[in-house]
Amino acid sequence: MRIVRYEDMRGNVRYGREDPPGVVEELEGDPFSGLSPTFRTADVLRFLAPVEPVNIFCVGLNYRAHAQETGLPIPEDPVLFMKPTTAVVGPDQPIRIPACCEHGPEVDYEGELAVVIGRKARDVPEERALDFVLGYTVANDVSARRWQKHNGGQWIRGKSFDTFCPLGPALVTRDDIPDPQALRIRTALNGELVQDGGTDDMIFPVARLVSFLSRDTTLLPGTVILTGTPPGVGFARNPPVFLRPGDLVSVEIEGIGRLTNRVTGPDGA
Ligand code: MG
Repeated sequence: MRIVRYEDMRGNVRYGREDPPGVVEELEGDPFSGLSPTFRTADVLRFLAPVEPVNIFCVGLNYRAHAQETGLPIPEDPVLFMKPTTAVVGPDQPIRIPACCEHGPEVDYEGELAVVIGRKARDVPEERALDFVLGYTVANDVSARRWQKHNGGQWIRGKSFDTFCPLGPALVTRDDIPDPQALRIRTALNGELVQDGGTDDMIFPVARLVSFLSRDTTLLPGTVILTGTPPGVGFARNPPVFLRPGDLVSVEIEGIGRLTNRVTGPDGA
């Protein structure tokens, strides 16, 4: 099922089912306790991030070709950091360049597959890990590179600013994505392809990430895991490319959809 979250014309936030493309049926309930049909067409004012995460775990350097382009060694265990839930924005909402990135362009894109946990997971073996996944969406792990590398490494600072976690456009349930390691993921900047990878290049596949993260750690329903980015990020390009006001950045994953966000300056323009 393809689940969207939206604000309706009366200002209510609802879930809907998109099928066929562009046609949304209003649903009752939520994806974690259960959704039921209403047979009513949704009156969508605007689409929102398909989930309101309770926690956001992120994995760095999880594609072999991206580890190579950064010049860093292949990690032995997943490289973890978190983003605050306040960084989340939905599809077509702006990515705002922070005022404190005043030393010059440094804000970068990272197209990523995002995993949404559907039921409480703790100490889950890898073989059963995907049973705890509700579904998948698309993320952009927006990163301010100077802040990220400041003071010997401040990944959370560089990746936590407001609007630095676009999610969407839909949550596609696990039954529609039988193999999360067989997805093509592409990022376009102003229509030009800048990242083109496959989730088969992940060093730690989704099942291993869920299992690893759940060791002595409760993953609540609504936990979102950003699973790393393929090669082609802006700072590793020659010459480097950074986001500027007016840019349009799109991340597309086969079978899930395309997440597009425009970039604004600190004042929103
Ligand atoms: Mg990332």
